[in-house]
Amino acid sequence: MIFLHFLGFEQAWAWDIPLRHGLRSVGVVVDKDDFKKYGTDNGTFFNSLVRRNRSLAHSIRNAERVRPWWMEGDYSYKIDKLRGNGWLLIGDALRFVDPVFSTGVDVASYSALYAFDSIEKVLGGGDEGVAFGEYELRINDGVDAWYEIIALFYKLQNLFTIFAVDRRFREKVVRILQGNIYIPESLQRAREIINMMNNAHDRIMAQPNSLLRRGAIAQYLSTHNGSRPSAKSPGSGDPSAEGALTTVEA
Ligand SMILES: Cc1cc2nc3c(=O)[nH]c(=O)nc-3n(C[C@H](O)[C@H](O)[C@H](O)COP(=O)(O)OP(=O)(O)OC[C@H]3O[C@@H](n4cnc5c(N)ncnc54)[C@H](O)[C@@H]3O)c2cc1C
Repeated sequence: MIFLHFLGFEQAWAWDIPLRHGLRSVGVVVDKDDFKKYGTDNGTFFNSLVRRNRSLAHSIRNAERVRPWWMEGDYSYKIDKLRGNGWLLIGDALRFVDPVFSTGVDVASYSALYAFDSIEKVLGGGDEGVAFGEYELRINDGVDAWYEIIALFYKLQNLFTIFAVDRRFREKVVRILQGNIYIPESLQRAREIINMMNNAHDRIMAQPNSLLRRGAIAQYLSTHNGSRPSAKSPGSGDPSAEGALTTVEA
């Protein structure tokens, strides 16, 4: 079981992964600018983020750190060529994208599965160039879609959350996140949602008063003495509110 926690920043999240013998992998992902802004040491910054989420704070309240603090920059990469004469790349060897949706094992498992299919075709007398070419296209298309979904999550986390909880889109979003984006119908479903989210993003950015815009809710709270926007506030993020509905509609 993996736990993902939001931290109240618009581009931040924390992971909490139980390992073995009571050990847990816990870390935070945050925008570089937010990190720099605080200008504190890693431990103070980490603890200040943990305090922003009650369930995470509760979950690690008695935890003892067993490894030194470790900081990483963006570790996504992409290899252009996934095949050659007699070889195919699979898993981490071909690409790694931001881990927010736990795509590493999905890419590793399905690329292995489809590589196996391609090799089997070749061993059965099929053309290697064709079989390996199909493999490369399938995997690249699938992981590209993962990459775009993840990019949308970072571009506008509020928008992503709205899609994930809105009954009209929830099933599609969940099915994408379930994995195996490499079969044509899953890929098509993912592409539809990506297009809808991109369109919704453009519409939000065209509405200066939309509360779905980055920083808008914090600004709203500071100018309204901390009172929450009502469901009827235009663009409040509630799909039933008129302003937001037009924002989210496909
Ligand atoms: C801390 C951490 C947490 C993660 N959490 C998640 C998660 O929650 N969900 C998720 O989907 N992904 C997660 N990932 C990513 C995921 O683990 C990888 O994407 C996935 O394991 C890749 O599988 P792979 O088979 O391509 O490579 P690996 O799992 O790295 O397997 C490669 C294997 O090859 C072996 N090897 C290397 N060189 C040689 C050699 N010369 N000869 C023989 N063997 C060799 C290695 O020892 C290793 O066993 C996490 C990664 C890390 C580091």
